[in-house]
Amino acid sequence: MIRFGIHASLRNGLDNAIEQALAAGCEAMQIFTKSPRIWNSAVYSRKDIASFQHKLKTSKLSPFIIHTFYLQNLATSNEELYKKSFEAFEKDLLLASEIGAKYYVIHPGSYSETAVLDEGIERIAKSINAIYSKNEIKTTLLLENLAGEGRKIGSNFKELAQIIEKINNKSKIAVCFDTAHAFGAGYDLSNPKKIDMLLKDFDVALGLDKLKVIHFNDSKMPLASKKDRHEHLGNGMIGAKGLEYFVKSVKDIAEAGIIETPKEPEGSDIINLKKLFKWRGK
Ligand SMILES: [Zn+2]
Ligand SMILES: [Zn+2]
Repeated sequence: MIRFGIHASLRNGLDNAIEQALAAGCEAMQIFTKSPRIWNSAVYSRKDIASFQHKLKTSKLSPFIIHTFYLQNLATSNEELYKKSFEAFEKDLLLASEIGAKYYVIHPGSYSETAVLDEGIERIAKSINAIYSKNEIKTTLLLENLAGEGRKIGSNFKELAQIIEKINNKSKIAVCFDTAHAFGAGYDLSNPKKIDMLLKDFDVALGLDKLKVIHFNDSKMPLASKKDRHEHLGNGMIGAKGLEYFVKSVKDIAEAGIIETPKEPEGSDIINLKKLFKWRGK
């Protein structure tokens, strides 16, 4: 059955992320390895990593997921940005594998104005294949669906499937499905009938066995807005009815559900998580 968790903050260090997750009542956890808005890779001492691994094991938080930083773009035709992205992404993924992350969530990237979609898809797949072929990486990469803003790749299942098709080691690639992004991209998660259709489409394009992690977020923006603004569960344009139906539909399919809902007011994570637990049942 699906296990729920929060995206924990690194503000007070790696170990403290585990404490936050446990205090909120989590079964699973997601973190960044560093601030998502900087290029510099995270540096942790052997001692920090050993301590974290030990705490993670005793916490029983599982799966442990790392979310990529925002700056990298593996789909770009700008060689300088591509090289910088490739190197920083490779380091971050290796760190994820080292500290014991089962999954690493990545946004596929944005193709250049001078390029076409297929070129972007080709570049993403090429970099993933290169990194996995030259390193021993235990972590499985999860492509996250996006809202479809600008030239961002991955707002529909077809594009995600096109990337996965080109990956050599298919056992190391799957999908993270974000409800707010999907709603922005035009998937109507407020409507149970549409949810049934969405899961059928997912199965045809990707196979439901590729649905590993769900980001459960309500959306401040209307259906098909192509915008990505997260809201507390049940307070947004998707609403409680659709989210509850979706939880019940995927609880025996996906491995983890993570909330990336607003942290304010204080205590919000606990309130949002409680909704997920109520909808799932024990
Ligand atoms: Zn994301
Ligand atoms: Zn997300």
